[in-house]
Amino acid sequence: MSGWSHRHVLDLASFSVEDFATVLELAQRFRSLPVAGARKLPALQGRLMTSLFFEPSTRTRSSFELAAKRLSAEVQSFSPSASSLSKGESLLDTARTYVAMGADILVVRHRCAGVPHSLARDLDRCGERVAVLSAGDGLHSHPSQGLLDLFTLARHFSPEAPGPASLMGRRIVIVGDVLHSRVARSNLWALTGCGADVVLCAPPTLLPECFADFVAAPPPGQRADPVAARGRVQVVRSLEEALPGADAVMTLRLQKERMQQHLLTSLDTYHRRYGLSHRRLALCGDGVPVLHPGPVNRGVEIAGELLDDPDRSLVEEQVRNGIPIRMALLYLLAATAPLPPPLTAA
Ligand code: ASP
Repeated sequence: MSGWSHRHVLDLASFSVEDFATVLELAQRFRSLPVAGARKLPALQGRLMTSLFFEPSTRTRSSFELAAKRLSAEVQSFSPSASSLSKGESLLDTARTYVAMGADILVVRHRCAGVPHSLARDLDRCGERVAVLSAGDGLHSHPSQGLLDLFTLARHFSPEAPGPASLMGRRIVIVGDVLHSRVARSNLWALTGCGADVVLCAPPTLLPECFADFVAAPPPGQRADPVAARGRVQVVRSLEEALPGADAVMTLRLQKERMQQHLLTSLDTYHRRYGLSHRRLALCGDGVPVLHPGPVNRGVEIAGELLDDPDRSLVEEQVRNGIPIRMALLYLLAATAPLPPPLTAA
């Protein structure tokens, strides 16, 4: 694809507006192609995608595997507990073993931030031609989730031409456990990169004030910001202040495991102050949609009736869009065959 220069996809801080446009355009083409079942595309024929998941996953792993199969790639999965890692083999040697078996793309999820980066750097140093795609690392990054959220919003605002311009000047509210969310961090780079203003909303224990400067400087290791003019980020403590004027609201999973650290006084209080419901959403305009990356705690960060309301909830749409977005990423990193010409109908 013209202008695409990424050998690996590890975060969205290094994406330019053109990179976002390339991914969204391809995803839109994949969404409009009938590629299920026997009608696979030959684009990744002869390629092997290996998923190395060191952390549990429902949506991300299955949708990467489905995306690879729809592009005719072979798929191989690794289970850490049944592997030689327990005998002391290093992560790099494990990855090189899969490369020796023919892996062209490694999709890596790890509970520690930076693991996909280190692996990509070490594999490059060893001269391996494999691409590394992060499927979520610690609190740092979840690029394919950030992109599928971007695609879902862009399709909501401009169903026929969902590009970065669909986000320009929009006000997107992200509410919940921002501090512990790699999804929020990836969304901050993606949304502001496409010109949206992001309002973050949570109590101080889940959202330190410094998040207001999150995209103000390029991240460590990056000399310059690839986006010339980003949207703004604002930190607001009350939903009543955050919601008026919102174009979309994204709520994050409240990580119940944090309760032991007493970051919240009670789930009940949290729901009363930060939980989304139809009544709360009335503070925004009519038809403003709600997103959630899943898994969901029903009745905590979002009321069950709102989650299940097809007129307001884009949660199932996010899951559906995960497949074409991951097809686009796999295609960009490893295609061996061109795509058929675009269809006009979405
Ligand atoms: N599924 C997302 C992730 O892996 C969100 C979450 O777990 O809360 O980060």
